Amino acid sequence: MSRLGTETAFEVLVRARALERQGRHIIHLEIGEPDQDTPANIVEAAVDALHQGATHYGPSAGLPDLREAIAEDVSKSRGIKVSADEVVVVPGGKPIIFFTMLALIEEGDEVIYPNPGFPIYESMINFLGGKAVPVHLREDRDFRLDVDEMVGDITDRTKLIIINSPQNPTGGVMTKEDVQGLAAAIGDRDIMVMSDEIYHRLLFEGEHYSIAAVDGFKDRTIILDGFSKTYAMTGWRMGYGIMRPDFATHMARLMTNSNSCTATFTQVAGIEALRGDQGEVEKMRQEFEHRRNVFVNGINKVRGFSCRLPKGAFYAFPNITQTGWPSKKLADSLLEEAGVAALSGTAFGAFGEGYLRFSVANSIENIQIALERIDQWAKKHL
Ligand code: PLP
Repeated sequence: MSRLGTETAFEVLVRARALERQGRHIIHLEIGEPDQDTPANIVEAAVDALHQGATHYGPSAGLPDLREAIAEDVSKSRGIKVSADEVVVVPGGKPIIFFTMLALIEEGDEVIYPNPGFPIYESMINFLGGKAVPVHLREDRDFRLDVDEMVGDITDRTKLIIINSPQNPTGGVMTKEDVQGLAAAIGDRDIMVMSDEIYHRLLFEGEHYSIAAVDGFKDRTIILDGFSKTYAMTGWRMGYGIMRPDFATHMARLMTNSNSCTATFTQVAGIEALRGDQGEVEKMRQEFEHRRNVFVNGINKVRGFSCRLPKGAFYAFPNITQTGWPSKKLADSLLEEAGVAALSGTAFGAFGEGYLRFSVANSIENIQIALERIDQWAKKHL
């Protein structure tokens, strides 16, 4: 158990709430979830489903109608042909990480993963006794994966490569050429790819391109996606994986052994999310783009901070090396002194030192108060 890591966002949230109970006013820029409510048509679909008795166990792999709706949606958005038996519905995006690793990783297997990156990847690799092989995402490449650098990390023990675009915590986005270059580098080696595409609808320029769309890669890819970010449904716990049918059967069995199934009425609402009006999704995307612009513009005026424009997701990842402060100490001080909750870059791996992560999933008004407070902090300390 000592090898299992954590997600610091939840810990910082607890500390921020404790300060609030002492009467402090805190601006929350730590947790990675849309602040908007779930669109009303989805909530109504869940309420109707409850009234109609969708309160029982369902199949471990997900309701057939939802698997069908997901297959249609992913086929369209990724330009590949996906069928319902290649879809497994699970409670959130995270179980796809958990189950994929449980299924594939044995003691000593190597897994290449982005660093800074979503901390659960590294946590799970270590937990299972695998060898965590970080690939450094660099600011001067706009945090896009450097395929040439990654290729040098591939060995005979490499079992899995994890990619994430748009990326948490940097907002980096892999181009189509990056993805094709990665696929060419993997070639016909016996390596699986887990492509975490949970932010694929939150893209501010260009088009999302999945490695599953590269010739020969669909059967070697597990796409991770879900409802949490796209439809502001973090608390509902519903996500899914796309994988070849034999793998899907094993993953469904992991579901039988752990959760039995994803909540039935939430799955009915998931069908409405995918097939209903998509206007709210686009509205949220535009709103995040606006907030990103306001935040990045503002933080670049603060002494010691410099921030590239993230191309996707709802995070900003400013460089804070010019402050002379280590990331964790700076994040702690911003919370305790300035009342702004952010995360140390090191919460996303060792290569996150020198950075902080701010979520811009908060109102423009609160973002402006946060910027003002950070500026005051910098004037006092630097
Ligand atoms: N993958 C990435 C990159 C994330 O940022 C998150 C959530 O923060 C997840 C997966 C997990 O999403 P969920 O809340 O649906 O489990």
